[in-house]
Amino acid sequence: MPSAVAKPAQIFYADSVVAVLLPLPLAGAYDYRVGDCPVAAGDVVAVPLAGRESLGVVWGAGRGDVAPARLKTILRRLPARPLPEAVRRFVDWVAAYTLAAPGAVLKMAISVPQALEAAAMHRGCRLSEPPAALKMTEARRKVLAAAAARPPLSPADLAREAGVGPAVVRSLLEAGALTLVPMAPPPLFEPPRTDLPAPVLSDGQAAAAAQLAAPQDFAVWLLDGVTGSGKTEVYFEAVAAALNRGRQALVLLPEIALSAQWLGRFVRRFGVEPAVWHSELSDARRRDTWRAVADGTARVVVGARSALFLPFPDLGLIVVDEEHDGAFKQEEGVTYHARDMAVVRGRIGGLPVVLASATPSLETLANVQAGRYGRLHLPDRHAGAALPEIALIDLRRTPPPRGFWLAPPLTAAIQETLDRGEQAMLFLNRRGYAPLTLCRKCGYRLQCPHCTAWLVEHRQAGRMVCHHCGHYVRPPDRCPDCEAPDSFVACGPGVERVAEEAIHRFPGARVGLMASDTVSGPHAAAEFVRRVADHEIDLLVGTQIVAKGYHFPMLTLVGVVDADLGLEGGDLRAAERTFQLLSQVAGRAGRAERPGRVLLQTFQPDHPVMRALVAGDRDTFIAAEAECRRDAAMPPFGRLAALIVSGPDATLLDEHARRLARCAPQAEGLQVIGPAPAPMALLRGRHRRRFLVKATRSVNLQEALRQWLAACPTKQPLRVQVDIDPYSFG
Ligand code: ADP
Ligand code: ZN
Repeated sequence: MPSAVAKPAQIFYADSVVAVLLPLPLAGAYDYRVGDCPVAAGDVVAVPLAGRESLGVVWGAGRGDVAPARLKTILRRLPARPLPEAVRRFVDWVAAYTLAAPGAVLKMAISVPQALEAAAMHRGCRLSEPPAALKMTEARRKVLAAAAARPPLSPADLAREAGVGPAVVRSLLEAGALTLVPMAPPPLFEPPRTDLPAPVLSDGQAAAAAQLAAPQDFAVWLLDGVTGSGKTEVYFEAVAAALNRGRQALVLLPEIALSAQWLGRFVRRFGVEPAVWHSELSDARRRDTWRAVADGTARVVVGARSALFLPFPDLGLIVVDEEHDGAFKQEEGVTYHARDMAVVRGRIGGLPVVLASATPSLETLANVQAGRYGRLHLPDRHAGAALPEIALIDLRRTPPPRGFWLAPPLTAAIQETLDRGEQAMLFLNRRGYAPLTLCRKCGYRLQCPHCTAWLVEHRQAGRMVCHHCGHYVRPPDRCPDCEAPDSFVACGPGVERVAEEAIHRFPGARVGLMASDTVSGPHAAAEFVRRVADHEIDLLVGTQIVAKGYHFPMLTLVGVVDADLGLEGGDLRAAERTFQLLSQVAGRAGRAERPGRVLLQTFQPDHPVMRALVAGDRDTFIAAEAECRRDAAMPPFGRLAALIVSGPDATLLDEHARRLARCAPQAEGLQVIGPAPAPMALLRGRHRRRFLVKATRSVNLQEALRQWLAACPTKQPLRVQVDIDPYSFG
């Protein structure tokens, strides 16, 4: 397979010294001596480490600061394909940017150690000279005839082909009439076809597709189009073009486990399934997919953010769909934003990157304005479908009846929709039955013992659950504080409670509830989506997972139960995110011939987010948001990092936080705020303090942080976590 960055690899022979990066959180690569078998950069090798064997990747020439005689020798080279140079440079870049250990980033690139070992040998049965004394039976004759006619089949396949039991094949192997020969395993992924009929694109779509499909080196394109404008069809053209050039393509989706509809469209366009990459793959599937990407037989990968670290030898395109989505930010371990890192991967690999969204992030829009990214605009829905009309329900004027959450204008609209035989959706971005449970007698609130969080009642599961650490208890019979029996009341709604109300208010309607804990796993989600699409559900109640790109032609009404929900809290992006989420939810309505309508229940009808949604005026809203951020020198106009220090003991933690504060960097254009209790001051039993570091774009933020952390090291059991470009302020 030709590689975009192919250069003859330098070969290191016996007794030379190479740097081997281990997939461990160490400061850097370690030097090893090359044994009898020569190695090259990118080779996967086994090396001795602290009396054990560890896998690693040859990173280049050794540093040479340890005398070769004292170095350990590489044990063996593994049969895996070498990690491509672009991937190695990407690992280094991500590590430097996020301040993660390079080995911790490498671990994401070689996340399936089994894939690095030799693949299990496949063997097939071939006819050999039959022994003179072979007793013939009808069954044996069938097997020998089947074996004669075709390339070698595995014993099981041969038995199936001949229509006999496996024992017959076994006996022929034992008798020597058949021999086992090695054979190539069947490919896991068929090559996608680019010659199938594609939809006829509108002029606007065709113009955008032509730009994306043109041969190009590194470039970033914002594909900016309202929901239903055909962004997917357009970037499929770019995928086809990459394939026709013999290159691989990667599509990142925010919720890959929920994207059965997307996969169906891919199969219709390309005739085969793409390789899928996400955390719910089985171990064997993960191993085989990793290998297929590495050997180039997987031509198109659709995946979650971690797919960015796969060892593509020949990547020619990256698409980030719903680029504004918060799911692209990884918060645990190596904290990175997959959209931003996709751009980095594109630059390193010299390939185009497409960012698609109906509500692009401020970051991306700022890059368009600065001329760094190109913009392709699809202003209209496909085939003249109208955008839904959005209206507000002022909860101060028309509140729901006591104990209910749906206001009269919303219930009336739902009834009309159901009467017309159409579907409606109620959206509330809160799992469970009620967010807070308190004792009616003494006011005691059920709280997580390990986190700064209330326990959320999940009535269907019969549990009180912490949404931060997963801790749960059975709902108590009596108050742990005042011991009053049966005194707990649920406060506020979650989706379960809204579904309960929907069933109560619309007794004739088939109500379906979709939240990540009620519809778990790809199969359940696909089945649920099918039931909605086939109109087996009239009234859909769900959290944000129902907002994700689905296309339900009969869905004409969307009701947002609490449009203000995302505006709470001190999050930098609260307004932007709320606008994006509600636009996306609204985009589910009226996607086909029937016009759609969206009703937002709010206590803040004058909030800029609500006004912008009603007026359909994204640009004014974004301009105002951008102005605020510019004034505050906040991202994307300034740089921001968060430093979270945590520990089991609050006193020791506070001492260390004060020490850190004393050695905080002082430089022109850089400001350290804190320490302050992190908004989640207790998480999974660890107390947390936060510093925010603000800097102008000219400051080398990473270098300042590196020097700071080196000057004031953090020792176990305390921990420090660096989050460059933080998205979660929790
Ligand atoms: P977006 O990704 O912008 O939300 P989609 O690509 O999902 O939009 O398109 C919305 C719907 O319109 C889909 O059902 C899609 O198949 C259909 N569609 C879009 N463009 C065309 C076209 N040129 N011809 C036929 N159908 C199209
Ligand atoms: Zn908890």
